Amino acid sequence: MSDTPICSAKGCRADAVWVLAWNNPKIHTPERRKTWLACEEHREHLSQFLGVRGFLKDVVLLKEWEEGSSATDG
Ligand SMILES: [Zn+2]
Repeated sequence: MSDTPICSAKGCRADAVWVLAWNNPKIHTPERRKTWLACEEHREHLSQFLGVRGFLKDVVLLKEWEEGSSATDG
């Protein structure tokens, strides 16, 4: 009904609130940003997953992300 983005966590259908911007230096150029979406509940879990691998670059509110960037890439 709405096109509200959904959390990227497996099996989660909650509205996304956060954008996790990440980069895997082994496969991405340094300026490349992949994005995951997260609800409040999964923000910590997902950012930890990326953080321990050294991939996590930025965590921003979805609202702010959409204002500051037109490209999402999943
Ligand atoms: Zn979630």
